[in-house]
Amino acid sequence: MNKQAEKILSGALDSLQHWKDSFGDWQNDPVLSISEEKTSAVFEDLSERLKCNYPFHHPVYAGQMLKPPHPIAWAAYAMAMSINPNNHALDGGPPSSEMEKEVMAELAQFFGYGNEYLGHLTASGTIANLEALWIARQSHPGKGIAFSENSHYTHERMCGVLGVEAIKIPLMENGHFNLNSVDPTAIGTIVVTLGTTGLGEVEPLEQILPWTKKYGIRIHIDSAYGGFFRTLKDSGIIDGTSWNLMQEADSIVVDPHKHGLQPYGCGAVLFKDPSVGKFYKHDSPYTYFTSEELHLGEISLECSRAGAAAVAFWATLQCFPLKEKEGFGPILAKCRKAAISGYSLMNSSKKLAAYKKPELDILTYFPITDNKTTSYISELSKKVFEAGMRDQTFYLSLFKVPASTFIRLHPEYQADTESVTILRSVLMRPEQAEFVPELVKRIESHL
Ligand SMILES: *Cc1c(COP(=O)(O)O)cnc(C)c1O
Repeated sequence: MNKQAEKILSGALDSLQHWKDSFGDWQNDPVLSISEEKTSAVFEDLSERLKCNYPFHHPVYAGQMLKPPHPIAWAAYAMAMSINPNNHALDGGPPSSEMEKEVMAELAQFFGYGNEYLGHLTASGTIANLEALWIARQSHPGKGIAFSENSHYTHERMCGVLGVEAIKIPLMENGHFNLNSVDPTAIGTIVVTLGTTGLGEVEPLEQILPWTKKYGIRIHIDSAYGGFFRTLKDSGIIDGTSWNLMQEADSIVVDPHKHGLQPYGCGAVLFKDPSVGKFYKHDSPYTYFTSEELHLGEISLECSRAGAAAVAFWATLQCFPLKEKEGFGPILAKCRKAAISGYSLMNSSKKLAAYKKPELDILTYFPITDNKTTSYISELSKKVFEAGMRDQTFYLSLFKVPASTFIRLHPEYQADTESVTILRSVLMRPEQAEFVPELVKRIESHL
């Protein structure tokens, strides 16, 4: 696939070169020239230095939320980037702005918003969430923004940036929000995370919806990580309850640069009510002079945005539609399968135990020890984590949980520390569905 993409890319760049040359003879200014020797030297250096990365592309990498984009995405990105359109304004790149509108229409359809919505791509999930929280503040001035303790850490930070009260909602043992512990009249918007960053947990939208309706509270869904799992909502492979209700929310965030096969620099935000556009009103003296059409820069907090990101995502969606049986569905089903099969292997393992049943594709586990204390589990988890990296046989991540939560789930252990460090694998490569038994064997061999 890499080879194929390289071939297509080089052909595509040639054809673009013809277009570039069609405007008449021109040459780059000599101040921009680099000698061939220098270029080779830099690239030799680069190819060595970049090898100090962990192998994000390979199934042995079962650590954090990281993987390379699909070749179709980087090839399309490189092609568009050679022109470098800016999707701030239509004049900055008419074709890439069109493609952004097309991918947003597909996302809106996918999340159940239909044809009436407002939305655009962003630099990241954090910026997309910031924009959603900003609209939350503008539409419910003076009210706070609520979220659970498992939500992404940037929500609290962004409440600080916006000068909005951040209200933490405690969770109950069954994962439901403890809504009795908060004052609904203080809340303007509640954030519900579908696919938490730590454990990939899906927060109970069905529990929260009736409560928000009763009190006139808005809902923002943070599905930066999980959003693409909506392709599996009716598959029976995941619990589809919350996923099937997404269209009820006022805004939704998803990160194509996480499960959407894109390079970094691609988040997205959608609003159900297009009239929130009124909060963006501003007058930029620099842009908006060529047409009466909607400029995406008019409905975005950010100014410059990479047109190439829209082009890459557009090309990817042509090849991988947002469907259960075709495109993204089968990819996510494989990741889900990897987590389920890892979970069942650990349930029968004598050396590893699952921390919790995975809801998506994030598996958490810990070494089974004779010394049944949280301090010993933490120590052994760190040892295994380091051993895999040292031998280059597997790459995991560490995850801290409160010892009290750990003991509740695993009462045979004793808490002699405040928190316990366990092991975590984000299984976001479809290849890991096949590789998981080997991965578990390799981890066990260090215990
Ligand atoms: C990753 C993530 C974010 C932050 O997104 P970035 O693209 O890393 O800025 C926010 N919320 C959730 C649930 C995430 O998983």
